[in-house]
Amino acid sequence: MNNPFENALKQLRRASDIHKFPDDLIERLSHPNRELRISIPVKMDDGSLMVFEGYRVQHNNARGPYKGGIRYHKDTDINEVKALAFWMTLKCAVANIPMGGGKGGITLDPKALSKRELESLSRGWVRGMADVLGPKKDVPAPDVNTTPEIMGWMSDEFEKASGDMTRATFTGKPISLGGSEGRGAATGLGGFYVFNNLRTEYSLPEKCSVAIQGFGNVGSNAAEIFSAEGHKVIATSDSKSAILKEDGIDTKELTVYKAKNGKLEGFPGSKTITNEELLLLPCDVLVPAALENQITEKNADRVKAKLILELANGPITPEADEILFSKGIPVVPDILANSGGVIVSTFEWEQNLKNEHWSESEVLEKLRSILCEQSGAIHQKSVELKTDLRRAAFILAISRIAKAMGY
Ligand code: NAD
Repeated sequence: MNNPFENALKQLRRASDIHKFPDDLIERLSHPNRELRISIPVKMDDGSLMVFEGYRVQHNNARGPYKGGIRYHKDTDINEVKALAFWMTLKCAVANIPMGGGKGGITLDPKALSKRELESLSRGWVRGMADVLGPKKDVPAPDVNTTPEIMGWMSDEFEKASGDMTRATFTGKPISLGGSEGRGAATGLGGFYVFNNLRTEYSLPEKCSVAIQGFGNVGSNAAEIFSAEGHKVIATSDSKSAILKEDGIDTKELTVYKAKNGKLEGFPGSKTITNEELLLLPCDVLVPAALENQITEKNADRVKAKLILELANGPITPEADEILFSKGIPVVPDILANSGGVIVSTFEWEQNLKNEHWSESEVLEKLRSILCEQSGAIHQKSVELKTDLRRAAFILAISRIAKAMGY
């Protein structure tokens, strides 16, 4: 199994090979500032006690408070959280927002817990971490399997533990509890803005065929936006299976179908395929929107998409990056493509601190403007340096972090 933190460090070295940064800076970025592991005891519904392991990694805060989501997954471990925290530092620098990088998680299968158990666990994570969190210290958000409702519980628990009433410590909250307009769809929508800004640079057709791995928060929002903008979503998947419908999936109907049946399989008119087959479909745009390490040296040479838009974090290994680059398949990297979530989270934090509530159109216009500017700058850098978009994004981000660290 690929270690995501090792992959993140390989990406760092790959970028610093073509742009000479001070060795000391690369060494410092190779180590998070702080790693925390806590035990969270939960009284289960059957009266037994279970102890879960929770994490927070604070990678770098040179540009602002640590910022990053909390993941609930059975495979989550400290190496995954370290990698995700590292990518957050770079992502916030790419977006040029005043935040550093952090990430959190709990190892668990959330489907195996009742709602009461999940709430108790989420509140326990906050009590264990409260000392290192705060609007000017560390501002968590949702990630895989963590929802606005969970952010609401966490924000409430933090208020009790700290007395801080700003509600600016957790983002991705429900709107009624201080959340921002536009946060729910921000990652998918941001990815679309980036794609749209770069589409003609890579000579893609006006109406593209799109395959999306993962139909969760990010993937389903992306699917709806691509469809609404006239593109054809031909395939998507969840952890159980993938479906293909070459004449295009009605994504709104699929959302209703999934909510009713708890699966994608059997959607009228579709054919069931495997997640691996989805990644290798001939299409204009492939959107990984699930987990890490999906495209590796084992399948990269069989990818037939014309462009890959990374909405998941770390779906492509460094070895696969080399193969895709040599095949001329552009990869829009996660630290740019999925930065819409953290950008709108930062707007939420700012609104909470100023006690304001911005309209959806104001939020989306600010988001679009940042992503057009930064995707344009990264594309230009990749052309100047004759390199891929990931290395260009790393170089831009590290240059900004270096400045804040006094290099
Ligand atoms: P989610 O839990 O809402 O959805 C994850 C989806 O992936 C689900 O449909 C799940 O069934 C599917 N999945 C899980 N394992 C799979 C597998 N092995 N093969 C195929 N599909 C699988 O999570 P999300 O918030 O949509 O996050 C998805 C990705 O986007 C993650 O990499 C996350 O870090 C990244 N991301 C999320 C946000 C955000 O705002 N939520 C922001 C930036 C990046």
